[in-house]
Amino acid sequence: MKTIGLIGGMSWESSTMYYELINKHTKELLGGLHSSKCILNSVDFAEIERLQRQNDWDGLNQLMIQSAKQLENAGADLIVLCTNTMHLCSSQIIKNISIPFIHIATATGQEIKSTGLKKIALLGTKFTMEKDFYKNILKEDYDIDIIIPNIADREIVHDIIYKELVLGNIRDTSRESYKKIIKKLEQQGAQGVILGCTEIPLLIKPTDVDIPVFDTTKIHAKSAVTMVLNHESAQHS
Ligand code: GLU
Repeated sequence: MKTIGLIGGMSWESSTMYYELINKHTKELLGGLHSSKCILNSVDFAEIERLQRQNDWDGLNQLMIQSAKQLENAGADLIVLCTNTMHLCSSQIIKNISIPFIHIATATGQEIKSTGLKKIALLGTKFTMEKDFYKNILKEDYDIDIIIPNIADREIVHDIIYKELVLGNIRDTSRESYKKIIKKLEQQGAQGVILGCTEIPLLIKPTDVDIPVFDTTKIHAKSAVTMVLNHESAQHS
């Protein structure tokens, strides 16, 4: 079995979900006592958050490249970066490793495309909602139109992530705020919503909203398992 290399700790609250999801999905597909071969390289999120706030993307690129290389040297066969936001560093990571990298927006785009939905809301950090690195993949590679909350609502979504969810603090009042924001986006024509931050699934479940939910943590974790196991069956056939 191939080994999945996880760059985690952004935050560790969502990395635990990745660990559980990849093992559950491996067991679902292979049965019995099977579990995933994986290596977790977990960072100190305080350092990451400080560099994000300082807009030091050179520093962040260096840290992400270093983490990915450590995983490759430790024997990982592919890299999974367990956060949407830090995919801002993905092109730099890819340039510096020789193993595959599973992009979270690509995995999400494939999943949305399979449903045929065209206009989708995106919730995440301000970096993910406002910069182009994520939306462009969905538009250019999958022809999906993305809508994002208005500026005040983006502030609310972002603050709840950094002040509560990454600390594992799950509040009913914050869930209600997210539900209201998603409802507004639905009224603007969103046919589904991307939970484009790996901690949002701690707060919002598919039953909380009336439109389909695309949980990027689940989609990304599952796509890593599928890739590893497809590779296995291709090698054995
Ligand atoms: N886990 C989050 C995401 O998926 C936010 C934390 C981070 O900045 O990496 O974007």
